[in-house]
Amino acid sequence: MVLKLGLLGQSLSHTLSPTIHQSFFEELGLSGRYDKIEVAEAADVAARLTELADEGYSGLNVTIPYKLSVLPLLGALAESAELASAVNTIKFGPGLVASTGHNTDSGGLAEALSRLTAIDAERRVLILGNGGAARAAIIAVSALGFRGLTVAGRHTEKALSMLDQLGSAAERASLVQNCRTARTIEVLDGVAADQAFTEGQALENIGLVINATPIGQKDGHVPAALVELFASLRKKVEPVAFVDLVYGREMTPLCRLAREAGFKCVEDGKEMLVNQARLAFKIWTGELPEGKLARKRLSE
Ligand code: NAP
Repeated sequence: MVLKLGLLGQSLSHTLSPTIHQSFFEELGLSGRYDKIEVAEAADVAARLTELADEGYSGLNVTIPYKLSVLPLLGALAESAELASAVNTIKFGPGLVASTGHNTDSGGLAEALSRLTAIDAERRVLILGNGGAARAAIIAVSALGFRGLTVAGRHTEKALSMLDQLGSAAERASLVQNCRTARTIEVLDGVAADQAFTEGQALENIGLVINATPIGQKDGHVPAALVELFASLRKKVEPVAFVDLVYGREMTPLCRLAREAGFKCVEDGKEMLVNQARLAFKIWTGELPEGKLARKRLSE
């Protein structure tokens, strides 16, 4: 039997997911295909999902911009999707009512972080951004037992509302203690970064910085406020680990900035990408690939 899997989203020409899943098929000796499924309009997503379930697809990954819009279309949500309020993996049943939404982003990031030897959960984490990837990052670091959290975003209200929502979701998963220690700073729009950090002491004891914004992804531009932020980190604390959820064939602009700022351990988002894919593959097939071949292909 040929296993049918795929990725649902928009603008999928550069995605690395087919390479990763093809490597998993080969690693495990399975026969399968992983298709790019582009849907231009949100209004067409429900009908397309029904067709794919009818065509015998076992499951899908879901990416921008449909991680939220598929939520109400599925019959059931796993705890991971409820906690993240987003779906990146669908396991089809017969029809959408029997299909389940999962989220493997936070598990994938937790796995990637746990491979880094330089991180110390006693120190504070700084997360840049307040979108879906930032939520996944907060869930991941909370699951790993980090003690303190600072969130930096362009809009303080958005960051606070994300933390509020995660607070109640986190309560069910015993993460609330960590979420409640969060402080939010408004910095990425360039407003008095240094002053905010000095006064709010939000950068005290930072041991890990995670970029959960797309900064650096398209044009390589890094806002001046972020350059200042890295300079402040260098002055204030001994920079330890930086993880950029953005990834590419070349070193990302923020990874370069982190290296220049003296971070000891710097990684881009490829390890998270491989790990969220491994967890999705297990949901579809019951088998967890090791991922060595996928990592090799991504580094070529
Ligand atoms: P999202 O939900 O659209 O959130 C993006 C966040 O970045 C928002 O907080 C947004 O701020 C902020 N932002 C965007 N442009 C900015 C700028 N120029 N300056 C400051 N802040 C900016 O997107 P997402 O799903 O969280 O994804 C974020 C990044 O993570 C993307 O690059 C995505 O590819 C990557 N990602 C990687 C993996 C992986 O496996 N490695 C998995 C998931 C996501 P506002 O709210 O103020 O607009």
